[in-house]
Amino acid sequence: MVDRLAEGFEGMTDLPLPLRRALPARLRPLSSRTEVVRRSPDGTAKFLVRLEDDLLVECVLIPEGARLTLCLSSQVGCPVGCAFCASGLEGVARNLAAHEILEEFLHGARLAGGRDRVTHVVMMGMGEPLLNYDAVTAAIRAFGVSARRITLSTVGLPDRIRRLAGEGFPVNLAVSLHAPDDETRDRLIPLNRKFGIGEVVAAARAYFEETGRDVTFEYLLIEGVNAGPAHAGRLARLLSGGHRNVNLIPLNPVEGLPFRPPPARDVEAFAAILRREGIPTHVRRPRGREIDAACGQLRRRHR
Ligand code: SF4
Repeated sequence: MVDRLAEGFEGMTDLPLPLRRALPARLRPLSSRTEVVRRSPDGTAKFLVRLEDDLLVECVLIPEGARLTLCLSSQVGCPVGCAFCASGLEGVARNLAAHEILEEFLHGARLAGGRDRVTHVVMMGMGEPLLNYDAVTAAIRAFGVSARRITLSTVGLPDRIRRLAGEGFPVNLAVSLHAPDDETRDRLIPLNRKFGIGEVVAAARAYFEETGRDVTFEYLLIEGVNAGPAHAGRLARLLSGGHRNVNLIPLNPVEGLPFRPPPARDVEAFAAILRREGIPTHVRRPRGREIDAACGQLRRRHR
């Protein structure tokens, strides 16, 4: 089913006809369905998956050159409550089960025109994947996609990052840092008060050392909050020595929240300070603004 993306038993033509007819009385092939698909002029396609209990989660297909990345959710809503995020606005309804995450993958692959069209998978949608550890690690193993083409994005739970390093399925790791110090990060990511930014960076580096896989520090730039030259200098000091790839992402504004991205010249100035300190830094283009591509926004409009 994962290989051929058959939606129903009738499509499983490698099974004998009597078996295909008998199966629906005993099993259901999928518990969820896709509902709203919105495409942006830049090719980004956002879709909602309606779950068996009527709840909705969001997924996104993001084309970029020869790459097609499928972004999946790990929870319905999110308990982390980051100050800038639509998914965290209403808390979490529940964890997704492993089969529901696998179904998100199947729906995305089908929309993409086949499983082989999806070149990369990122667990970067709604939810904090490491708070749904068992289901997420079971599902990503079932995609049939190489671990080096899968990225798990986390706000950074140090003990679970270290546990993930020992799973024997070394995915890439993206750590949402979004601040250069505890004071700024506590305001943006409440969970930071529990661990502290130094612990998060140390666990991320330990992951890199143990697995050798890509570890990227993600940094959303928010005007007047974390995007000034002093913040860039503090970030450079925090990441000095050791592994330190940085992705800068100008914020996608969320309706109802007061945060805005900084002007382009401030983004470039921030990146220049990091590069001057020898930190490999990429500025990521915001994608799909027209289709509510910031996490959680499409779902809020379509319940
Ligand atoms: S940014 Fe991620 S971790 Fe933070 S509230 Fe949104 S979904 Fe949760």
